[in-house]
Amino acid sequence: MTEKAFAILIYLISSVLFIVGIKRLASVKTARQGNFLAALGMLFAIGITLFDQKILRYELIFLGMGLGALIGAVLALRIAMTGMPQMVALLNGLGGGASLLVAVAEFEGLLDLPVNTGASIFLSILIGGVTLTGSLVAFGKLQGLVTEKAVVFPLQHPINALLILCALLLSVLALLSPEAWAGLRPASGALDRELIMLIIVGLSLLLGILLVIPIGGADMPVVISLLNSYSGIAAATTGFILKNNVLIITGSLVGASGIILTQIMCKSMNRSLMNVLLGGFGSTSGASPAKTTASGKSIVVKEVGVEEAAMVFDAATSVIIVPGYGMAVAQAQHVVKELTDLLSKRGATVKFAIHPVAGRMPGHMNVLLADASVPYEQLFEMDDINDEFASTDVALIIGANDVTNPAARHDQSSPIYGMPILNCDKARTVVVVKRSLRPGYAGIDNELYGFDNTLMYLGDAKEAISKLISEIKSL
Ligand code: NDP
Repeated sequence: MTEKAFAILIYLISSVLFIVGIKRLASVKTARQGNFLAALGMLFAIGITLFDQKILRYELIFLGMGLGALIGAVLALRIAMTGMPQMVALLNGLGGGASLLVAVAEFEGLLDLPVNTGASIFLSILIGGVTLTGSLVAFGKLQGLVTEKAVVFPLQHPINALLILCALLLSVLALLSPEAWAGLRPASGALDRELIMLIIVGLSLLLGILLVIPIGGADMPVVISLLNSYSGIAAATTGFILKNNVLIITGSLVGASGIILTQIMCKSMNRSLMNVLLGGFGSTSGASPAKTTASGKSIVVKEVGVEEAAMVFDAATSVIIVPGYGMAVAQAQHVVKELTDLLSKRGATVKFAIHPVAGRMPGHMNVLLADASVPYEQLFEMDDINDEFASTDVALIIGANDVTNPAARHDQSSPIYGMPILNCDKARTVVVVKRSLRPGYAGIDNELYGFDNTLMYLGDAKEAISKLISEIKSL
């Protein structure tokens, strides 16, 4: 086997590992294995690239890998589950930045390159640049370094459209054949094209900022998923520049999966991608406590203490737990698992109902509950469990709000109208654990809190559930 054929074979194996890895990531049960397979694929890909490109001096590469591994390990260990979207934003941005840098480095030989490679270079610069600064702004918004609010100014969208058009026109100009180029600009040379390239780099970096600042902080997870897709597309175009098949395959996988994920998120929130990208939703941080529904009806709630709440669970034979963002904030997953074990020991069946956009990123609840060793068999997707609420004694809602709001079914004036929700209100009794009557992400009040069968057990999720456990044990 020739060296080239060997390299192609290894690239093929790593591509298969990536594809199988991403497939296995789709289920919580197989996700770890999927991650491992993809990492193995990456190791093969890096190894064979070093070998194939005859890179013999490894000092700098090992130094870079060591530093990268160290920074990655420290970040991964320190990041809280609630900070995961920021972390993903940063990683996407670095991916986009890497594509941008490779494209700029390859630009040098543009005059000798075929047009399609030249076009890939400009696409890589454009998409990579937008991904880099867009992701940094998204990171800043989620981390509180940049205002979370949507920053809007007059003519914002036309200006963005104009900048995109300029970048595309300049790219076409730079791709003109030397003869056409000479006709346009006599005595032109590489310097002029370099200047154009630098202007395109500047435009793409500016566009990344301008496209993300009008979007409210709460919509950032959707934007991050979209930027994730962009980073994949940038990597794929870089693959065309470098003629590296594995980069094209992995980039396309990331690009496609990012777009699919973005669509799933938008669909689960019943919003169009355009609606998210144009901004102005859910920017209601610091909203006042609930008093009325979106259509103006007043909400009268029944508040209970730990004793009453414990009695409800003492009598229950079936419980469905609905976790939400508040469980993540309170890091209550371990006490929730403890409660699940306690109730099961007392003879109740306990299940978890997982809404596709509960929390602040897809799979947020699954990851948290897996972290607390809740068996996968106890977790049910919304569509698989929604019919069971009607025959359930207690629906226990822990830090979830919008995903349980019945207004989504009938209140056309509500921003979440049409969003599929969990049928918690159909359970015989609903117990809601949250700190106050403040709204959730969508910034609207939840009419469920005023229903006859709903009991509000207010408090921090971790503290409230711990107290509930002690109380149930004392019964
Ligand atoms: P929500 O944001 O609707 O509600 C979370 C609730 O948790 C709040 O009402 C808050 O009430 C409560 N809470 C906060 N901290 C605590 C705490 N320490 N203890 C107890 N409760 C707490 O979350 P949901 O999970 O129900 O819904 C997710 C929302 O996020 C949806 O609107 C969805 O569209 C959106 N979204 C989700 C994405 C995803 O991928 N998962 C992506 C983008 C948006 P209080 O302050 O009174 O405690």
